[in-house]
Amino acid sequence: MERRDSRTVWVGAIAIGGGNPVVVQSMTNTRTSDVPATVAQIRALQAAGCELVRVAVPDMESARAIARIKREVTVPIAADIHYDPRLALAALDAGADKLRLNPGNIRDPGAIREIAARAAERGVPIRVGVNAGSLDQRFLKGGEVTPEGMAEAALWEISLLEGAGFRDIVVSLKAAEVGLTVEANRLLAREGDWPLHLGITEPGPDLEGVVKSAVGIGLLLWEGIGDTIRVSLPGDPVREVEVAWEILKALGLRRRGPSFVVCPTCGRTGIDIPGIAAEIRRRLADLRDPVTIAVMGCPVNGLKEVERADYGILGGKGYGTIYAGGKVVRAKVPERRLVDEFLGVVRGERGGSGSADGSRNGP
Ligand code: SF4
Repeated sequence: MERRDSRTVWVGAIAIGGGNPVVVQSMTNTRTSDVPATVAQIRALQAAGCELVRVAVPDMESARAIARIKREVTVPIAADIHYDPRLALAALDAGADKLRLNPGNIRDPGAIREIAARAAERGVPIRVGVNAGSLDQRFLKGGEVTPEGMAEAALWEISLLEGAGFRDIVVSLKAAEVGLTVEANRLLAREGDWPLHLGITEPGPDLEGVVKSAVGIGLLLWEGIGDTIRVSLPGDPVREVEVAWEILKALGLRRRGPSFVVCPTCGRTGIDIPGIAAEIRRRLADLRDPVTIAVMGCPVNGLKEVERADYGILGGKGYGTIYAGGKVVRAKVPERRLVDEFLGVVRGERGGSGSADGSRNGP
């Protein structure tokens, strides 16, 4: 896939755009001023593979808390600002690595220029984050939110920032609808080389949210558009990171930990394929090496899949044959010992835990 040319914007030590790997980000849902709870959640997000964490800054206490949070974590912190420009300045003073501004609710050009000047002094980038739900009335078309209106809202704020000489800009255009989000991003992608942050905002609860996010983000990424992603889901944000990784792995854009090929099972299946695959997945949760694992019920499609994978199980009636590197390494292992023996093969080659993280080495 050919990726759109975009400028590189640095957030701490993380590069967004410029052909760098698509960055996985998420957002805490603790009260930011509750520093211990926020730090604990940021650490859980980082352990799950999150590379940039955004925190809400609804008040001065939260803005100031960023300084204490930064002392406890290594992942860069983005401050999410709405309505009050003073919160953006305070977040910068507290050491935020990135700002998100919403052109729908910070509209004073003078305030935006003042924020840009302070951000430039500190080498901190700004995301222009347009949301359909808070689009400024000036950009509605016949009272409606349209892709054109969303792109125009972003361009208005970009022109203010760039007019002030500020170039470290990332842009996002998000809606709850896949079509609106995709069209708005396509339009903006043609207007300049700002790195794009992708996401479907408020996509719905778990399954609906996962599907909408995967379709919307996946469509754009497949067109080469997008430099960082956030999957928005209610509940524990670690789930957002897990889903983001699966989207990037499915498109071959990043590699991290095991990728599974599992047969859907049918009348030929002679062992508990879903149970075996789930247990392997659970017990290899700490593996960071990007390996493929095929768990297949029979030779119909299974033989080629286990031969192509790094590791595989080819099922029979009550047993399975274990493959590594395309070759049989344990033939006809009884089902009750299958998972243990399989994991013994993988661990024997890959080590117990904490293997090298292949996440920044992906294509
Ligand atoms: S691999 Fe074999 S058992 Fe699995 S779905 Fe295909 S035919 Fe059925």
